[in-house]
Amino acid sequence: MSTSIAYGPARVLPGAQIHISTTPDTEPFWEAAKERRLTACQCAVCGQFRMPPTPYCPNCSSKERKWPTLPGTGEVFSYAICNKNPATGEDYVYVPVVVQLDEAGGVRLVGNLTGCNAEDVKIGMKVTVEWTDICDGWVLPNFRAV
Ligand SMILES: [Zn+2]
Repeated sequence: MSTSIAYGPARVLPGAQIHISTTPDTEPFWEAAKERRLTACQCAVCGQFRMPPTPYCPNCSSKERKWPTLPGTGEVFSYAICNKNPATGEDYVYVPVVVQLDEAGGVRLVGNLTGCNAEDVKIGMKVTVEWTDICDGWVLPNFRAV
């Protein structure tokens, strides 16, 4: 017999406490996110995706890149359930998920999951991107259960 814990609804962390920094390699990702468009770095020569973005393709060594618009869907590859806000220490249930993105060659992206109870998150469950306004005008991709 297993025990289960009722955590309740998973929430994303408040955008007001999330700061990012960009580099020339990552800035196209974040600029697209401002337009609520999910993208990933893809080699313009051989087509291999790479996240996080790097200057050179590990497959063919090309510097040529493109940033295709992805459907924004995927499935949960891994997750953790957290119950304290890391900034404030208050009780706060959130679920960081590693999502394998659709139509992106198997690359994965980390976000917070919402739209379900934390105890109901499963490996393989379908999710879709959901955008969270964060500090300094940036927008963070999170995920919602579908
Ligand atoms: Zn390549």
